[in-house]
Amino acid sequence: MLSNSDLAELLARESERESGILVRAYRRAARSAFLWPEQVSRLIAEKRPLSELRSIGPFISKRIQRWIDRPPKEKISVPPIRRDFLALADARVLLAKNPDWSKQLRGDLQMHTRYSDGSGTIREMAAAGSERDYEYIAITDHSKGLKIAGGIDEARLAKQAAEIAKTNARAGNGFTVLSSIELNLNPRGEGDMDPKALRQLDVVLGSFHSVLRVKHDQTPRYLAALRNPDIQTLGHPRGRIYNYRLGLTADWSRVFAEAAKLGKAVEIDCYPDRQDLNLALLKIVRREGCRISLGTDAHHSWQLAFIELGLAAALKAKIPAERIINFMSILQLKQWVASLRARKRKRG
Ligand SMILES: [Zn+2]
Repeated sequence: MLSNSDLAELLARESERESGILVRAYRRAARSAFLWPEQVSRLIAEKRPLSELRSIGPFISKRIQRWIDRPPKEKISVPPIRRDFLALADARVLLAKNPDWSKQLRGDLQMHTRYSDGSGTIREMAAAGSERDYEYIAITDHSKGLKIAGGIDEARLAKQAAEIAKTNARAGNGFTVLSSIELNLNPRGEGDMDPKALRQLDVVLGSFHSVLRVKHDQTPRYLAALRNPDIQTLGHPRGRIYNYRLGLTADWSRVFAEAAKLGKAVEIDCYPDRQDLNLALLKIVRREGCRISLGTDAHHSWQLAFIELGLAAALKAKIPAERIINFMSILQLKQWVASLRARKRKRG
């Protein structure tokens, strides 16, 4: 039976073959397929109309029915720019078969608020995290160098920290908002904020947002970023975007081995268009033994649901549970950050 991600690929291909308004209709359906809450196969088994799903009208519904009735004989080969993306409904089916895996999840470590380019307030994101039974969320607004995303400077960061402290005081025990940031890294792996301000934060995520289309090996920039003493986690490492940008290339074994040596984490950015790291690289992560951080990169509170894409990818890659930062208690998480900061001091 075709999975939702298979159907997403068939729809994306169809959009490339079509002309006129159908190009957009198929493309929109392909992207929606990653977010459909249920598998098409299930709707069909239950004789429900496919128009229950977003971006499916009568025309596309008929086309999908034909694929289901006569699935392509050869394996669906996906071009690299769309390869290795999971659909939410497929991820949910996989996670439902392994309930003990998701139960270990305690929080989400990347999301944005109105302080930068997100649409929710700290309180709204906290309420959404609490509703999911999390113990913590980390607020990671963009840092000042990323002007296009409304990055925040040290003064705004301090103001945010005060607001987070107030939110935590109101929330009481059992749920904590962590102060964090998505530190914008330049291609030399350097951040754009005063290290003193970063040390006030519970945890620091660092990400590249520039020079993401170069084709040659970028191993040195990754090694430099991991060695940057101000960050603990490297965010959306490849910088890929579904059907838009392939992302960077590197000697990934070396990159992840360095992260393991330094005790740092690399991220699975669970945003559907990113899914970065992806399964193929996560298999290398498993071999090299570094830690993994899961972050939805949510810009709206409902997007915290994207965590399932990362949970499913890590499960598929057989990442050991003890390597996942989000499976740690808040105390363990803070101890991990403190140990990395202490290591750095020892080295001088
Ligand atoms: Zn980012």
